[in-house]
Amino acid sequence: MNIPRLSTGDMLRSAVEAGTPLGQQAKSIMDAGGLVPDEVINKLMLARVGEPDCSRGFLLDGFPRTIPQAKFLLDSGPGIDLVLELDVDDEILVKRLSGRRIHPASGRVYHLEHNPPKVTDRDDETGEPLVQRDDDAEATVRNRLAVYHEQTKPLIDFFRRALETQQIGGYTRLDAAPAVEEVRTTMAALLAKHK
Ligand code: AMP
Repeated sequence: MNIPRLSTGDMLRSAVEAGTPLGQQAKSIMDAGGLVPDEVINKLMLARVGEPDCSRGFLLDGFPRTIPQAKFLLDSGPGIDLVLELDVDDEILVKRLSGRRIHPASGRVYHLEHNPPKVTDRDDETGEPLVQRDDDAEATVRNRLAVYHEQTKPLIDFFRRALETQQIGGYTRLDAAPAVEEVRTTMAALLAKHK
């Protein structure tokens, strides 16, 4: 669709990598699978959606994660055309995340079972080593899921109400348990309808 994907997780990981004050503040929270404070995240996101490449639209990934963030998003201006709820069983997520491996330089994502690299633990293109995100260790994934159920899941009702009061253009739940290609096709069709 030629619009940027804005991932608060990616922005925070870059800040950690660069050793900025934000990165230093966020690192221990992220490593434990907790949430970075709302004011910090809201400021980060507001600055990003104000950049020129977002003028024709953007896809938010990993934001909002709390009710205060969602309220901030709806109050701060950029209209939201569609909210997609990706529904996946917790145990499937534990397997997906704990088996995930990434190539830090390119952001390419692999999975030990579902998308293994040609050579074990090596990036297909560069042959460089793959790493596991610190917060993809199984114990941390389980904590991230507990945080999801407590703080993020209430957004389902929040956005359903926001749809009723026409504060957002659409809300669709999709089953994200099938394989990547199938979920991607379903999502692309839903996004195209809301262009
Ligand atoms: P993600 O890549 O979206 O899984 O995010 C990785 C980590 O970054 C999360 O576990 C949080 O610690 C932090 N993070 C990312 N987005 C947010 C957000 N919207 N609110 C608070 N913390 C966030």
